[in-house]
Amino acid sequence: MIIDVHGHYTTAPAALGQWRDLQMAGLQDPRRTPGAADLRISDDEIRETIENNQLRLMRERGLDLTVFSPRASFMAHHIGDFETSSAWAEVCNELCFRVSELYPAHFVPAAMLPQSPGVDPRSCITELVRCVEQYGNVAINLNPDPSGGHWSAPPLSDRSWYPIYEKMVEYDIPAMVHVSTSCNACFHTTGAHYLNADTTAFMQCLDSALFQDFPSLRFLIPHGGGAVPYHWGRFRGLAQALNKPLLEAHLLNNVFFDTCVYHQAGIDLLSRVIPVKNILFASEMVGAVRGIDPQTGHYFDDTKRYIEATPHLSHEDRSQVYEHNARRVFPRLDAILQRQGR
Ligand SMILES: [Zn+2]
Repeated sequence: MIIDVHGHYTTAPAALGQWRDLQMAGLQDPRRTPGAADLRISDDEIRETIENNQLRLMRERGLDLTVFSPRASFMAHHIGDFETSSAWAEVCNELCFRVSELYPAHFVPAAMLPQSPGVDPRSCITELVRCVEQYGNVAINLNPDPSGGHWSAPPLSDRSWYPIYEKMVEYDIPAMVHVSTSCNACFHTTGAHYLNADTTAFMQCLDSALFQDFPSLRFLIPHGGGAVPYHWGRFRGLAQALNKPLLEAHLLNNVFFDTCVYHQAGIDLLSRVIPVKNILFASEMVGAVRGIDPQTGHYFDDTKRYIEATPHLSHEDRSQVYEHNARRVFPRLDAILQRQGR
């Protein structure tokens, strides 16, 4: 079985974007602010966007199931205030839930949180609980920088984040550490901000005792871990200099990397440097990089090809990366699959 742990509803019907535009117009003129009921998307519209895009590509590539969350760049937590993010998260999470209801064998939802710059992360608990208990979400996306590229929030090791971690531990759900749109012109959203944030989140964890406080807390660092695997020696050396335990004990029971690296050499490096138990298959499809690689003739984000071709993974290793690691890191996903007899 092949589980893609990193997919977003990037192809949602246009009505969702129009609802968001109205919501933003409402920040200037509150009379224009839409309610949740003003978003009207039929099941057929959802089917059309999923079957022609994600599901079609999953079938072509032989992927069985995707952990599916709202479009990351659309979260844009820097827009408006907590009320803005709260209403937006509600409609986006409901839409992913509906996808999972229409295609229970192929999509399992993960939630975005109603984060807002300067607002206590504790404010996100209500939506987190709703998504786990009512919608069956198996994970959350946690934005370490709700300011959108200005990094005004404290590091992930700060105690202000702890209420979210306590809830994650209670529900036994992981978080994918995932930023959103950059509103800082220095950082291109998907080319710089995302990768910076992956690297930054890892270093925040390294330079902390977070996982001593939460031994069962689990973070998935997407996009292959940003620069982390490539610079593994630097991080090992920094851990040593900072009098931290070896990275295997300090971080690798809690931090995992996905395979959203869009060329063979990158996956070869990832699978050589990072232990197999810490690598989870993902493609982030249909996502940031949608083109075909002229060197291979295949889509850049067809990441299964690189996993198949890398010399560093045995047959058994591949099944860990494709399935068993995901079932271990996402226990609620495993429970759903078991109920489905898979
Ligand atoms: Zn993503």
